[in-house]
Amino acid sequence: NTRVRFCPSPTGNPHVGLVRTALFNWAFARHNGGTMVFRIEDTDAARDSEESYRQLLDSMRWLGLDWDEGPEIGGPHAPYRQSERMDIYRDVAQRLLDGGYAYHCYCSAEELEARRDAARAAGRPSGYDGHCRELTEEQVEAYRAEGRPAIVRFRMPDETITFTDLVRGELTFTPENVPDYGIVRANGAPLYTLVNPVDDALMEITHVLRGEDLLSSTPRQVALYKALIELGVAKEIPAFGHLPYVMGEGNKKLSKRDPQASLNLYRERGFLPEGLLNYLSLLGWSFSADQDVFSVAELIEKFDVADVNANPARFDLKKAEAINADHIRRLDVTAFAEACAPWLTAPYANWAPERFDPAAWEAIAPYAQTRLTVLSDITANVDFLFLDAPVEDEASWTKAMKEGSDALLVTAREKLAAADWTSAESLKEAVLAAGEAHGLKLGKAQAPVRVAVTGRTVGLPLFESLQILGEEKTLARIDAALA
Ligand code: GLU
Repeated sequence: NTRVRFCPSPTGNPHVGLVRTALFNWAFARHNGGTMVFRIEDTDAARDSEESYRQLLDSMRWLGLDWDEGPEIGGPHAPYRQSERMDIYRDVAQRLLDGGYAYHCYCSAEELEARRDAARAAGRPSGYDGHCRELTEEQVEAYRAEGRPAIVRFRMPDETITFTDLVRGELTFTPENVPDYGIVRANGAPLYTLVNPVDDALMEITHVLRGEDLLSSTPRQVALYKALIELGVAKEIPAFGHLPYVMGEGNKKLSKRDPQASLNLYRERGFLPEGLLNYLSLLGWSFSADQDVFSVAELIEKFDVADVNANPARFDLKKAEAINADHIRRLDVTAFAEACAPWLTAPYANWAPERFDPAAWEAIAPYAQTRLTVLSDITANVDFLFLDAPVEDEASWTKAMKEGSDALLVTAREKLAAADWTSAESLKEAVLAAGEAHGLKLGKAQAPVRVAVTGRTVGLPLFESLQILGEEKTLARIDAALA
């Protein structure tokens, strides 16, 4: 049985890199009929927050990335919040100490730093030098008598560590590059280096898919796993696959603090979960050479970690938007209208709630569906229907209203008043004729009409828009523009 885990720390806002990791694990589990474990790595009280925890759960639910074991639903390895598993880590740390796999290290931060500097100056490896590896009982007594705090440090075996990365192939780490490392702080708090592999072992994780930034911790975890197997805590070392870096602007790694990386941004702008997941799946993976828009069901069917590319992926907002636009087109119109709902109400809507007109919305929605890139654009595209007067936008007005626009509007009003309002085509003929009378092509003739009626220079197809707004209001707005 394939068992994967998504195990974020609840710090800050969820970002796209994190979602990509969650998605690849989830798609891998779903493709293989496996189990998705959701674990919260909240052992750092200083950085973790409940707010961030709630956001993580909410984001996963919004994205539709469901979990089979984890917070709120429990499971055979509960609890799934590490802050509730402290006894387990204390116990494992003790067994590692008792078995000689780990030792107390009394080196102070200053001592470590001084020796690191000296090693660097001498051109030697600058990691932990093994100072406390083989302390005699007398030395330990002396340190204790001094009242020195001790951390617990894992004893790396003096051997080369090799594993086959699912994305990168065989990787080898020599001992001098992987020094002994801390697993429990002096105050007794267990570190990520311990709790993460211990929980992976206890939760019987078979595949660890995570970001490339964690690659350096993998040889340590492999060594720790071997110790856990000897202690009977773990059964098998999982397979590891490290997902490529995501590069942002200027070919720099997309940082989680980069505003462009925030998941909430995409949600607020009105990305569809499917559109966003589709795009994020392309960061390091591809569906096929000639198709980059696909459903989540298709993604699950096709996804294989063996097809993940080791090269850095580039985050391309334009492409993300284009893919999202495609997903908007794929909805049926009712689903589209429902998906827009958040942007038709407070705090996005700029009209009084009672002015919302469901019939007008239903009439305009199909035109919006074929044009929007992100759902949040809906507000500005339909507000002319629900506001008493069009939005006042100086810039649009100046752009559309040229010399002669008034004369054009006068004629357009006349022709529109005589047009057949049951036909958008007839409204178009009216504006076309008004343009001809003033030597203007349709595009130029349309602009002042659009801005007079909607307040904007761009929007949905004009004649359908006028028709939906209705004759009376359209003519009154042209009158107001001429006044
Ligand atoms: N809690 C770790 C993080 O947020 C998990 C890393 C891992 O997948 O091992 O980075």
